[in-house]
Amino acid sequence: MGVFDFLRVFRVNKSISIDLGTANILIYDKQRKKIVLNEPSVVARDRKTRKIIAVGKEAREMLGKTPASIEAIKPLQEGVIADIDSTTEMISYFIHKIYGNSLFKPEVMICVPIEVSGIERKALFDAVKGAKKTYIIEEGRAAIIGSGVNISKPEGSMVIDIGGGSTDVAILSLDEIIASKSIKTAGNKFDEDIVKYIKKKYNLLIGDRTAEKIKKELATALKSVNPEIMEIKGRDLESGIPNTIEVNGNEICEAIEESLYQIVNSTKEVLEKCPPELAADILDNGIVMTGGGSLIKDFVEMMEKEIGISVYLSQNPLDSVVLGGGAAFDNKKLLRTLQVREN
Ligand code: ADP
Ligand code: MG
Repeated sequence: MGVFDFLRVFRVNKSISIDLGTANILIYDKQRKKIVLNEPSVVARDRKTRKIIAVGKEAREMLGKTPASIEAIKPLQEGVIADIDSTTEMISYFIHKIYGNSLFKPEVMICVPIEVSGIERKALFDAVKGAKKTYIIEEGRAAIIGSGVNISKPEGSMVIDIGGGSTDVAILSLDEIIASKSIKTAGNKFDEDIVKYIKKKYNLLIGDRTAEKIKKELATALKSVNPEIMEIKGRDLESGIPNTIEVNGNEICEAIEESLYQIVNSTKEVLEKCPPELAADILDNGIVMTGGGSLIKDFVEMMEKEIGISVYLSQNPLDSVVLGGGAAFDNKKLLRTLQVREN
C-alpha cells in the first residue's frame, strides 16, 4: 500500500456502498470515486466443516462442477436472501479483501431487495459491525438515483430493475417508494427459458452458462426480418453425444417472450396502483429500465410499445444500484428515511 492510500484509509471519512445483487455484488468507494469490487454473488464451502473455500469469481467457476464434499451456493436468490450466513460471510470476506485489516470505520450503505425481513436486516447490520454507521436502502431507490434521476422532487418517477433473480418495479416521489412490485422473473429465468426451448425444439441439452451466452449475444425482445445466427453446442438427448446446431435471434425471442411479458404486466400493475397525479408525471418523465436484464436487445423499445409511455435505458444498467447507494450519502433528507444503526 502506498503512503497516499495509507493516509486516505486513515482519514476520518470513508463511505462505501454495497449492492447485494442476486447475480453480482458490487462495492463503491465514495472517496476514491470508483467501484472497487464487482464479483458474482457465489460462495463455495466445505460441506462438512462449513469452511469457506472460495468466494466470487472463483466460486462461480465451481457452480455445477463441485465434488460431493464442496457446495457452491448463491446466497441471494430470486430477490431474497436465501442464506443469511453465507451472505454476511461474503460481505465480510470482500470488505477484508479490499481494505485488509486497516482500522478504518466506514459509513456503509447496504442496498438490499425490497422484501428483506427484520431478522435479515439485523444480520446485515451485524455483518458490518466494524462500521461507524450503517444504512439499509432498497435497491429500487438506489437504482433510480444511480440512473441519474432526481427523486427528491414532489414528482413521480418510475424504475424497472431487471436483475438476475428478480425484477423490481417501483414508483417514487419525494425520496420514497410509493408503489412497487417484485417478481422472480429476471435474467436467470431467461436462461432457463432458453435451456427449455432448445431442449424441446432440438432435443439438445445445453448448460446454464451457454444459455446465458446465447441470451447476451442473440436474444432480442422484438423479432426482426434478418435475425442473427449462432452456433451452439450441447448434448444430443437421443444419441447422448455432443452436437452442434444453429439458432437464430427470433427463436430466442420466442423462447423468452412469456417472461418478457410477465415483466411488462408487472409494470402495468404498478402503474395501476399509482396515484393519478404521479401517473401524469411518469407520462411526462418516462420510465427508466436498469439491471443486467434490461440489456436484452430491443427490450426498451418493446416495453415502450407495450406500455405506451416513453422508456429509456439507464446510463449504468449494471452499476446503477451501487452508484445510487453511494450518491444517497449526500442526500440528508433521504438518509433520514432509511433504517440506520450507529456503533
Ligand atoms: P443482480 O442485481 O440480481 O445481481 P444484475 O443487474 O447484475 O443482477 O444483472 C445480472 C443479470 O443480467 C444476469 O442474469 C445476466 O445474465 C444479465 N445480463 C448481463 N449482461 C447482459 C446483456 N448484455 N444482455 C442480457 N442480459 C445480460
Ligand atoms: Mg441488482
